[in-house]
Amino acid sequence: MAAPVTADPGRGLVVGIDVGGTKVLGVETDDHGRVVRTARTATPGRTATPGEIEDALSRVLDEVADGRPVAAVGVSAAALVGPDGVVRFATHLPWREQPVHAQLEQRWQVPVALENDASCALLAEQAHGAARGVDDVVMITVGTGIGGAISIGGRLVRGRQGMAGELGHQQVVPQGLPCECGLRGCWEQYASGNALVRLVAHTRPDLTAGPDVTAAARAGDGSARQAFASVGEWLGVGTASLIAVLDPALVLVGGGVSEVGDLLLGPARVAMRRALYAGDHREVPPMVQATMGPHAGAIGAAWLATGLDRR
Ligand SMILES: [Zn+2]
Repeated sequence: MAAPVTADPGRGLVVGIDVGGTKVLGVETDDHGRVVRTARTATPGRTATPGEIEDALSRVLDEVADGRPVAAVGVSAAALVGPDGVVRFATHLPWREQPVHAQLEQRWQVPVALENDASCALLAEQAHGAARGVDDVVMITVGTGIGGAISIGGRLVRGRQGMAGELGHQQVVPQGLPCECGLRGCWEQYASGNALVRLVAHTRPDLTAGPDVTAAARAGDGSARQAFASVGEWLGVGTASLIAVLDPALVLVGGGVSEVGDLLLGPARVAMRRALYAGDHREVPPMVQATMGPHAGAIGAAWLATGLDRR
């Protein structure tokens, strides 16, 4: 993250914007993190320039503001954000070594907070959701792949280059399944929406995306339920390693795949306990579903923009 942003919400509106691979979402929230206004647009496609991405952010900001003065903007991005506000890399956005924070402040002439989207989602959960009042939290976002964020002692763990929390790419199987990142055996190949689809490919080739497998499992399909049991087990085993390293008070599971609830979390909790170091001699942290929903990134970004001393 870049230089501290200070903003007085009394002087105008604070807007949170989440920019992902498919959409740009802007929100205005009340003091309890409830969304009172939204605006959205499609993320410009693969051939877009950085300027076109920033145009899309500006359109969403203008629509949320609707002519009212803006005091600060928080931006939650599916990207690796360095401590200098430079986006190093983003899988689905054209930002490469782009000084995005400086460019947005220059463009909007208001203080801007820029942070990784998973970190923003965790901040939203700590401010308003399932992790309220909890300082030591690991959040695992299970969607197409696995994202994550870590808070220790009430502070986000960003690492030296802002690259901490990429939980999905810890190697769990040497020479395992190839991952889109170029490595093999990454955790997200075994515990994600993509893994669900792979696991049902032989029996239900018609299920081509994670949400299809979720719907089939809810409808009682045996192979879809088996897939959730396997993904849940892998989720639990990987989580046990994170607990051994970080000793959190709470494990939050968010993302689209988690919406199925105990079909995933049930086997995950069992496997987590079984694989946990010194499990009989510690308080095992609860593994619970995140509660802030698909707007969590934008809500966390808005919360961040209201005062950076809280990070
Ligand atoms: Zn990987």
